[in-house]
Amino acid sequence: MKHLTFLLALSVSFASFSQDQQEIIDVLDYNVFLNVYDEHDTILVSERVTLKLLQRVDSFYLDLHSVQGGKGMKVLSVSSGIVADEEVTVPYTHRDDQLWISCSTIPVGEKFHVELLFSGIPETGLIIGENKFGKRTFFGDNWPNRAHHWFACVDHPADKATVSFFVTHPKKYDVIATGTYLSEGELPGQRMSSYRSEINLPTKVMVVGIAEFDTEIINHDHSELFEMHAWVYEDDVENGFKDMAVATDVVNYFVKEIGAYPFEKLDHVQSTTQFGGMENAGNIFYDESAVTGQEKMEALIAHEVAHQWFGNSASEADWQHLWLSEGFATYFTDLYWENKYGTEAMNERLVNERNRVILFSKRYDHPVVDTTYASLMDLLNPNSYQKGAWFLHMLRNEVGDAAFWSGIRTYYEKFKYENATTKDFQQVMEEVSKKDLSMFFHQWLRESLHPILLINNDRKCGKDFLEIEQQQSHVFEFDLEVEVLFKDGSSELRTLHVSKQKERFKLKTKKKISGFKYDPNVKLLFEMVEY
Ligand SMILES: [Zn+2]
Repeated sequence: MKHLTFLLALSVSFASFSQDQQEIIDVLDYNVFLNVYDEHDTILVSERVTLKLLQRVDSFYLDLHSVQGGKGMKVLSVSSGIVADEEVTVPYTHRDDQLWISCSTIPVGEKFHVELLFSGIPETGLIIGENKFGKRTFFGDNWPNRAHHWFACVDHPADKATVSFFVTHPKKYDVIATGTYLSEGELPGQRMSSYRSEINLPTKVMVVGIAEFDTEIINHDHSELFEMHAWVYEDDVENGFKDMAVATDVVNYFVKEIGAYPFEKLDHVQSTTQFGGMENAGNIFYDESAVTGQEKMEALIAHEVAHQWFGNSASEADWQHLWLSEGFATYFTDLYWENKYGTEAMNERLVNERNRVILFSKRYDHPVVDTTYASLMDLLNPNSYQKGAWFLHMLRNEVGDAAFWSGIRTYYEKFKYENATTKDFQQVMEEVSKKDLSMFFHQWLRESLHPILLINNDRKCGKDFLEIEQQQSHVFEFDLEVEVLFKDGSSELRTLHVSKQKERFKLKTKKKISGFKYDPNVKLLFEMVEY
């Protein structure tokens, strides 16, 4: 996603990670029957979870937010069984956001169902409120693990599952949700709209959006394999359709460069997400204020569309590998920019991204692969986004364009619809490039900071020298391009291979030097300090 800084202060509890449940259960499918109302914010959910036990246990838990301060879900009934029509009521306890369910009679490896009924006002996760036009809306906003505020689940990206949403809602609303549209049914005063995804997804990108929408096909050129729709508020129709039209260019580029589009559909939805944009699988939710009618959404759209491949399809195996999602989405926006507007335009973005990394490093001394974060929201930082992007940019320079793109495609193909770690990506890049990249991956992703260089040039006995001193604690190894400028107006590009804390480089030249430009082609994540 693209985050909005002012919203990072939002108080969300991340006390219960369900990592440990992944060793115990494997969820295969969620069937969520969601009832929403105009009269109040209480939701009623009937849910069927299909799962398997991975080991012999008497009970397991699903993440489901407990009632606290008037918000949260109150469980009304739990039943379970191997065959759907033989389900029986089973003992359960619901405390500290964990719904513990007895499973003592369920054999390991056997598929079984859990049927739940619960109700309450979601504290977050499903945002019920008004949009910027004062109209009532309901939007799923799950990242990172807020899905369990409105449906019971293993709220961790490593347990992927298929999902169906059956939404019963007042008639005036339209419903967008994850997966293929199934049907609509009329009920007295209400309507039921349903969707299903047959593709395994992490819970962070399974959503519904309920509002008074207008929809339109975006890609009229039919150049690609599927129709894309824009879903915008009825009051913002013209602006929304205009701003989102560029999504066609974006999708065409990524399909060409990465591989086939991974999901059943790709729709672009105006919403009340707390993020600038949220990459929900197959239906991206954009912050409602991003729609202006001034066609300013291109970079945001590129970022969220890139996530469909990286993050939604090939997902990080755990939160510390978030850069595999955000760093990729950030750099693939840069790559899209380069393809459409040229290398100079991409470099402008990279310089900005580098500045963000440098600034952030002054107050947060952690590596990109960070296991010591205080909360998951803290991981939405320039390390995951901009430094992750810069890592990919330097990797591209390290192995060359051909190996880089071949590695990207191989990595995606190998991990699509699955989960990957940083090590998995490294292995693919090493195999494809036939290079040992362990030091390269280590210094940029597992050490904090970046080269902080004190550079001095001097002239002794008629010879010019550059002395480069690394000021950060971990000594990095890298190539620094230096453009040597001469008094006659000419210049020469030199590449200095820096590997020591302090090194002197002799600059062989007969011409008189007038100055230096460091990293003129924007290839290195570094900063310079003055004497
Ligand atoms: Zn993102």
